[in-house]
This record gives sequence, structure tokens and C-alpha cells, in this order.
Amino acid sequence: MVPANELIDSVYQEVVRRNPGESEFHQAACEVLMSLAPVLVKYPEFTENKILERLCEPERQVIFRVPWQDDKGTININRGFRVEFNSALGPYKGGLRFHPSVSLSVVKFLGFEQIFKNALTGLPIGGGKGGSDFDPKGRSENEIMRFCQSFMTELYRFLGEYTDVPAGDIGVGTREINYLFGQYKRITNRYESATLTGKSLHTTGSLVRTEATGYGLVYFLDKMLRTKKISLDSLTCTVSGSGNVAIFAIEKLHHLGAKVMACSDSDGYVYDKNGIDLETLKEIKLGYRGRIGDYINHRKDAYFKEHGNIWEIPCKVALPCATQNEINGKDAQMLVKNGCIAVAEGANMPSTPEAIKVFKEANIAFGPAKAANAGGVATSALEMQQNASRDSWSFEYTNNRLKEIMESIHDVCYSKAEEFGIKGDYVQGANIAGFIKVASAMLELGLI
Ligand code: GLU
Repeated sequence: MVPANELIDSVYQEVVRRNPGESEFHQAACEVLMSLAPVLVKYPEFTENKILERLCEPERQVIFRVPWQDDKGTININRGFRVEFNSALGPYKGGLRFHPSVSLSVVKFLGFEQIFKNALTGLPIGGGKGGSDFDPKGRSENEIMRFCQSFMTELYRFLGEYTDVPAGDIGVGTREINYLFGQYKRITNRYESATLTGKSLHTTGSLVRTEATGYGLVYFLDKMLRTKKISLDSLTCTVSGSGNVAIFAIEKLHHLGAKVMACSDSDGYVYDKNGIDLETLKEIKLGYRGRIGDYINHRKDAYFKEHGNIWEIPCKVALPCATQNEINGKDAQMLVKNGCIAVAEGANMPSTPEAIKVFKEANIAFGPAKAANAGGVATSALEMQQNASRDSWSFEYTNNRLKEIMESIHDVCYSKAEEFGIKGDYVQGANIAGFIKVASAMLELGLI
């Protein structure tokens, strides 16, 4: 049999050859593949059955035209995507992203990550992702609705509670999910709640879903720090972004006594020496959908640095919750030099490979996205459970389930790393644990 390292290398070369120009997808595939040599040595059946080769090829990919009319009556054409990557563990599950940077490569990197993330939750969900290059910034409520309706008019035929269950991601929140669900219901003439998650409470959504990714991130971080006998209490934190993930990570950090000094959006960052005021942040971002620069009009001691690099601020804990590749090698060095002891990823793939290398060498606690931000999709699966049983759970019950799931993800990653002789390496622990689960299911299901 081919030695593990050679096989991994050739599978990676093949990914690059077959998916030209898809740099984000190459990066995500590379990160997972490079963790797997010890697994292939231990389980030769994965190599014999070409599990790696099969995993790197999505089961199905859909690309479609999304025509829609803006408020002036002008016709606009966007591109829609859904990559149904792997359904060995359950229906394809993963969010939709509406952002001008969305391309097939971005959707594939997200879908690939999602397979392992979803496996780590221990819940019956496969991996998929979708979205559009549509830019919701500055669009009216009616334009957003028309876009969502057009998007769903094409996508609906691929969805279903046992087939593919989208949710939100960047640019897609409760409002958009509701419009998408409304159109799905209208076209299919079926109130199939569990076909979309992240719905509002009036339309069979779940409590805690909005908070889930941010809360879950901090539950994971807290467990990672407690394992090192460190308490979050009074630690200074920097949280990039100011969407749902960032806002509710900040809220949970506050509950646990940590102090968040800065957050950001694509315009720049705000620093508040008294700590970020959550009510102000919520009013700006969730209330009137404003820009982060506005924060200083409400809080006099704060300053706004336009186009500033948030990672230049000294902190003990850094939570990247904005977007992919937002921390590069230099940023990572700066964080470590300024005394950072922990990083947990709220966004998907926010640290470049160079940044991860710096964090590893500095031996800081590093929680990779596919483990640390799994709380969102885990709570989506809890929403599916509630929908399937026509039930709705209390905030407390749902939040406790989320916390248990995040702590169990932590423990699985930790113990897998230990088992493979790389104690404390959550990157490899997460990749290995997620991979073994999916690969085993694929083997048992036969050649599909
Ligand atoms: N977009 C989120 C993620 O990256 C949530 C996906 C979902 O709830 O299906 O995991």
C-alpha cells in the first residue's frame, strides 16, 4: 500500500488539479488532509476504500442564475450556489452566505469544513453549504425579499428535511431565512419546518439559535482554558466582527467576567477602554443595522480606527468572528508578542496556515473553527429535532444542550489528540475525530 504521507500528497495534488483556481478550497482541504497520516496508518481500510479521494469530491454541486428586480425596476443577475458535499451522517446541513466574495471556491471550502464540524457535534447531519455573490449591503427590505424569493424559486427542488437543510451565514440572518422559508412553503404547498433552520420564533424557529454560535464559542473557549487551569474572569479579549457570532460571544464573555476591549466591521475597529458596551453594539448592529464607526457617537471614551487592524490591540484572548483569512502570520506574531494566551475561531477558517503555525509554536490554546464554532449548526440540529416533534423547548433547556454539546466537542478533540500523541493540539484532534466518524460511516454505507 502507498505510504500515508505519499497518498495524502497525491490526493492534495489531485484536488488542486481538478479544482483549478479554487484557493480557499485548496487551503481547507490541505489543512484537513495534512492531519490524517497517523489515522491512515491505524486504519488501512480507509486507504483501501479510497475514502480520502471520495471525501474531496462533493456528492453534488448546483450553480444557478438568480434574476431579480431592484426598487428602481432594474434587472439584476446574481449567481447562486449549493454544494452538497457529504451525506454519510445525515442530510446535507450548512448555511447560505450572501456576500460579493462568494464563489464556488468559497462555498466548497465552507462545505468541506462543514462535514467535519457537523460530525463533531455528534448529531445526525451531513455537510453542505451555499450562497450567492449578492451584496445585501444598502439594499431595501423589499429588495432583500425579492432576492430571497428568486433564490429559493430555483433552490427549492434540491431541498427537504431528509435531503438538504440550509441555514444562515454571513449576510443571511433570521429575516432572510424567513423569506426563503416563506417562498419554499408557497412553492411546495408544504409547511415543512425542518427544511430550513434559523427561522424566527413565530415560524417554528428555536430559542438560542441566534445566540448559539457566539455562546458555543465561549463555552468551548472556557473549557479549553479550564483544562489549562485558567479562568476567563477578568481576561481582556478582542473580538473581530460585529454580527451575530461576535455579539453573542461578547455577551457570553461578559457573563463569565471577561472584558472585551474591541470589535470591528469591514470599515475598521472600535476600542473602548471601559469595555465594549453590549447594549450600544446591539442597538447599532441588530437595531438599525448601522456601521461600527457609529459606536463612538454613543460612547465618548471609545475611539474608531478606520481600516485599522484589530489584532494590533494587546489582549489575552482573541476571537476572530469576522471572515476567512482575517489573521495572517504577522497578525498572529503580533498577538503572541502582546501576550495573547488563547485564540478560538468564531468565523470559518479565519486564521491562515501561517497564523496557525505561529500559534502552535507559541503553544497557546488554539480552538479551530470546526470545533469552536460548531454551536450554531448544533443548535440548528436541535431546531430540526423540535420541528420533527412539533415541539419547542425552553431557552434554559436548549442552552444547556448547547453547552453539553460544546463541552463534549472539546473533550472529543482533546482526547483524540492525546490518543494520537499530540496532546493539546485541537486542530489535529478535531480533524482526526471528525474524519474518523465520517469515514467510518462512509465505509459502512458501501461504495456510494
Ligand atoms: N453557517 C453556520 C456554520 O458555519 C451555521 C450552519 C447551520 O446552522 O446549518 O456552521
